[in-house]
Amino acid sequence: MLIAGNWKLHKGPAETAEFCRALRETDLGDADVVVCTPFVSLAGAVSTLAGTEIGVAAQNVHWAEQGAFTGEVSPGMLRELGVYGTIVGHSERRQYFGETDETVARRVRAALAAGLFVIACVGESEEERDAGETELVLRVQTEAIADAAVDGHENLVIAYEPVWAIGTGRTATPEIAQEAHVFIKSILDLPVLYGGSVNPDNASDLCAQHAVDGALVGGASLVLESFAAICRASSNS
Ligand code: PEP
Repeated sequence: MLIAGNWKLHKGPAETAEFCRALRETDLGDADVVVCTPFVSLAGAVSTLAGTEIGVAAQNVHWAEQGAFTGEVSPGMLRELGVYGTIVGHSERRQYFGETDETVARRVRAALAAGLFVIACVGESEEERDAGETELVLRVQTEAIADAAVDGHENLVIAYEPVWAIGTGRTATPEIAQEAHVFIKSILDLPVLYGGSVNPDNASDLCAQHAVDGALVGGASLVLESFAAICRASSNS
């Protein structure tokens, strides 16, 4: 089971160093663990977690290696820091920062080409689910990612994150997650993480679904005890 913590816009360098020092000493069960920090906190996380099995990832990456792209960070820059991977296409990027299937695909392609591990996010909104469009949305988003990964999939996983479940406390039922994961795998046969209000109480049931290969955890990854409890719960499923 892969458990990735998405810290979003939380934890600057000092808080990150403190958290990662404690994470090193914490029982995480058998889970493969990744923390996705803000850009400014990546270097500290990499150095504090050096020598451990815990990976450090960014939350986004640009497709160009350099150029007139103010505010962006390139795949090579992340590699130079010793960063293991990156999230791409999180729904908050799609919703608030104009990310489209096309820009997600460009980011995925460049990140994979640079040797980064990529967690590419897909998921339907509440309106889309209510309108019966979940499969259509998942198909279009997943196919865009598949097209970007024609040169190889071994460093790529998908995160199914229904938008209505992110940061809302409304988790998809294990059955809904299972159904969506099976559908995504029918398009692109890769590990699929579930994301959306995962917490220590629901992690084990979600991770027990055979098409659920781990979790992308937002809010509950910010507190060491709950993040570690999710990692341990996933290992027991
Ligand atoms: C996320 O940010 O990817 C996420 C799933 O957030 P939360 O766990 O807070 O719903």
